Amino acid sequence: MNALIDTFDLALCDLDGVAFHGSDPIESANRGIAAARAAGLPFLFVTNNAMRTPDQVAAHLSRLGVPTEAKDVMTSAMAAALLCAKRYERGTLCLVVGGDGLREALEAEDMRLTGSAADRPRVVVQGLARDVGWAELSEAVLAINAGADHIATNLDSTLPTERGFEIGNGSLVAAVVNATGVTPTSTGKPQPEIFHTSAAAAGAKAPVVIGDRLDTDIAGGVAAGMPSIHVLTGVSDAAAIVRAAPHERPTYLLTDLEALTEPYEDAQVVAPGRARCGQAHAAVIDGALCVGEDDQVLAEDVAVDVATYRALVAAAWDAADSGHAVRPVRFEVTR
Ligand SMILES: [Mg+2]
Repeated sequence: MNALIDTFDLALCDLDGVAFHGSDPIESANRGIAAARAAGLPFLFVTNNAMRTPDQVAAHLSRLGVPTEAKDVMTSAMAAALLCAKRYERGTLCLVVGGDGLREALEAEDMRLTGSAADRPRVVVQGLARDVGWAELSEAVLAINAGADHIATNLDSTLPTERGFEIGNGSLVAAVVNATGVTPTSTGKPQPEIFHTSAAAAGAKAPVVIGDRLDTDIAGGVAAGMPSIHVLTGVSDAAAIVRAAPHERPTYLLTDLEALTEPYEDAQVVAPGRARCGQAHAAVIDGALCVGEDDQVLAEDVAVDVATYRALVAAAWDAADSGHAVRPVRFEVTR
C-alpha cells in the first residue's frame, strides 16, 4: 500500500478550505504540506482569485505557516495570460477589465494593454477588481461587438468575504455577455484550462488536483482528466461526497492534508451497492446507508473512521449508478 505522495509528481492544491481558512491557518495542512514537500512532492497553489498577485498569495500562505514563493502560485489571471500567449502573438493588444494581478500577468506574457475599445484590441481579458464599473464593462462590450475575443479569468458568480457573498467575476462577465451574446472562454476552475496550464508550466507528468469543493476543484480535475484528492477541511462535507454526481467525484478521499504521507487504502465494490475498505464494510440497502458486517443502518450525526467513509462512498456511488436512490445522512469522519 503506497502513500499518495509516492504516486504523483505535483500537487495542484486549492487555497481556502484546503491550505487555510481565510485568515486562519489549518494546522493539519501546515504539517501535511511540510511533510509531503519533505518527501519530494512539490505544491503549486491554484486559485480562481484574479485580484491577488502571486507575490501576495505567497506572502499570505507564508504568514499562515506554509512557506511559499510566488513561483509556487498559479492564479486564474496567470492562466488567462498564458492562454493569450498560446493563442496570440507577442505584443497582441488586450483590453483589460480587472486589477493589477491581471495586468501584471498579461505584461509578463508580453501582451500590450489598453483600456479603450477605440484602440481595436484583439481580445478582451476580464477578471475581478473592486473598482470595475459601467465604463470598463462598456469598453469590453464595444470591443467584443467589434470582433475582439472574450476571455474570463473565472466565472464564479459570488466572492465569499467576511461580510457574506459579494459579487464575483462571473456576474460581471454575465453583464457583458448579456450585451454581446458572445460566450467567453474561461480559464478558472471548474474549467480544465487552469490545471492543464499549471501542469504544463511545472513540467509535471503525474499531477494530482487537491481541493475541498466538488463543483470547482474536483469537477475541474475530472474535466482535466486528472486524478483528484478531496479533503474534508472546507466546503463539501462527507454527505456531499456520498451524493456526488460522476463529473464531481474525487479519486481519493482524505480527512485532511496530513494523511497525504500515510499509506492509502482504497475501497473496493464487492457486490452491487456493497463495498469494503480494509476491514470496514458498507452497503446501501433499500436506500439506507449501512455500515459493519451486520449492515447496521448509519444514524444521523454519528462519526465513522476514514476506511468506513471510503467504503460508504464506494457503495453509494455504485448504488446510484445502478439507478438506486440513496437517502442522505449527515455524518462525521474521524482520522
Ligand atoms: Mg477551496
